Amino acid sequence: MLVVMSGYVFVCDSGENVPVVIESRRGARNIVLRPKTCPVKELHISKPFFVSESHAIKFLESKRKWVEKIFAAVPEKCVVHDGDEIEFLDRQVLLVWNQNAKSNKLIMNDNGRWTLFVGGTPDMFERRVRDVIKAELLKSIKEIIKSTPREFWPARIALRDTTSRWGSCSSTGTMSFSWRLAFAPVPVMRYVVMHELAHKKHMDHSPAFWHQVSELYGFGVERAKRWLNQNGASLHRYF
Ligand SMILES: [Zn+2]
Repeated sequence: MLVVMSGYVFVCDSGENVPVVIESRRGARNIVLRPKTCPVKELHISKPFFVSESHAIKFLESKRKWVEKIFAAVPEKCVVHDGDEIEFLDRQVLLVWNQNAKSNKLIMNDNGRWTLFVGGTPDMFERRVRDVIKAELLKSIKEIIKSTPREFWPARIALRDTTSRWGSCSSTGTMSFSWRLAFAPVPVMRYVVMHELAHKKHMDHSPAFWHQVSELYGFGVERAKRWLNQNGASLHRYF
């Protein structure tokens, strides 16, 4: 199977841009459209190898009315269920409820995708999924921090559900991050971490501060900032 993020963007009547992902499958006989609404809107097209990308997109456009209807019906908050595939920390993760499982288990499959087995009662499902996402994010943040010189390390790290800020750094040395950064592309999450680490040296947003951010993050600070400005609000649609 060949999966490509096509350059094509599906523009909804509402003006919203929906990325289109095209999968070419050996043995497939026809084009299948899968509008995904959770946790982000995405259009998946599965097509046989011999069908061209432009033909697949023409097919998509011919079904525009149907796709628009599905996207228009998306609730404000999306709830996750057994069998849903969600994306966090740039991983495609299939959620599987297994009542008998003692603990949650996240495993990588042969195809590069992941499966998260969640135990417990059905009413705890979402809560447990969220706990795993938070734990994985915390691990990633710690790894990023360890890649920097010790002088930038915070005394403590906390995850919060903030609406106005993605990260903050207190004078007592506690760095806080929004757990919803797990749904942002990893480079964007990494930018937020480096931003807060840079505040250990500069508590302002002076040119010296931004210089420090660039030094820690490398190339692409502007791009990450732009992504957050344009897409940050969408991270609150989860859970
Ligand atoms: Zn700042």
